[in-house]
Amino acid sequence: MSSVITAPSPDANGHFGPYGGRYVPETLMHPLQELEREYFRAQQDPEFQRELNYYLRQFCGRPTPLYFAERLTKELGGAKIYLKREDLLHTGAHKINNAMGQILLARRMGKTRIIAETGAGQHGVATATVSAMFGLKCVIYMGSVDCARQELNVYRMKMLGAEVVSVTAGQRTLKEAVNEAMRDWVTNVRGTHYILGTAYGAHPYPVMVRNFQRIIGDEARRQIFEQEERLPNLLIACVGGGSNAIGLFYPFLDDASVKMLGVEAGGEGIIPEKHAARFQGGSLGVLQGTRSFILQDENGQIQSTHSVSAGLDYAAVGPEHAWLRDEKRVEYTYATDEQALSAFMKLARLEGIIPALESSHAVATAIDRVPKMSREDIVIVNLSGRGDKDVAQVAAKVRV
Ligand SMILES: *Cc1c(COP(=O)(O)O)cnc(C)c1O
Repeated sequence: MSSVITAPSPDANGHFGPYGGRYVPETLMHPLQELEREYFRAQQDPEFQRELNYYLRQFCGRPTPLYFAERLTKELGGAKIYLKREDLLHTGAHKINNAMGQILLARRMGKTRIIAETGAGQHGVATATVSAMFGLKCVIYMGSVDCARQELNVYRMKMLGAEVVSVTAGQRTLKEAVNEAMRDWVTNVRGTHYILGTAYGAHPYPVMVRNFQRIIGDEARRQIFEQEERLPNLLIACVGGGSNAIGLFYPFLDDASVKMLGVEAGGEGIIPEKHAARFQGGSLGVLQGTRSFILQDENGQIQSTHSVSAGLDYAAVGPEHAWLRDEKRVEYTYATDEQALSAFMKLARLEGIIPALESSHAVATAIDRVPKMSREDIVIVNLSGRGDKDVAQVAAKVRV
């Protein structure tokens, strides 16, 4: 049995145990407090919930199926595998759940301009999509390295009417894009809302994003009861900032028999600068508004990271995950680039589903664990996104 979390999370100041909080310049304190107040007000408002549910259903395509992966199950010869199909959502990943929630909130707050950061471009596309849909001006910050490796998503954002700012500072990836978005927010805070894309950053972002993503787990819990009349034994999800994983895990946290496994990017192996597995080589620190596990050197300089999947390639992990790990409620492991690529191909060939490279890390871990489990057991793997965006990159690495 796993331990069960009893205290509510986070506390009133956004702390998950020793993690989380709000570490920002003075100029951002006021907008974050305003956001916190308006978010919790909206969360209690049935009209806001009704509107959100309407768009999630009619525009985004919820509920997503919980699909029994029969051939993968047979091939592995262990537990029954179910896939939570977030890949079937509009724009191709779970990111739209949060983007939709936050844009409705921005509208309530009277904001007319939206900004966001993006790594692989999935969150940028989701944000550009909901901005187009509601006719709000949209600016997306993206590292120039990511712009080059995810060119398709850059075009998608531009077609949707967003301005894409290519960020050339530092490592030129996600961390620098977040810095630029925060700088923009400080300058334009009055009319601008910052749609942060994962369960990370200063309070209230981690709790707000989790709550917008928990619909994944709420649906999966209901669906597994419909199909199997019982709880699953294990949940598996990949962990970048941690939003798809916490979205699946959260509604099951009180179910002591349900084990949970978060999968980070092992890259080329656990060697400094060759991976993005914060729980393998990381330590406690503060980055971009929150206190969590961070890949840093002995002087507190943020280390370079590497992963075949841009969406997992970030030096810090969401504070709630750091806390759930301390509490031994969730186990964290990693999958390497090679394992993820192999899982990508296996799912395509056995199930007719091309997963995102991020999600392929969760599939890789299922391939490792499931054969060691009983045929009576049930595993739910979160398929956080589809792999269309990754096709060119995989074709360059794997002979097909
Ligand atoms: C962005 C992304 C991730 C990683 O982000 P989380 O916040 O950890 O979920 C995972 N999968 C896909 C498909 C993504 O686009």
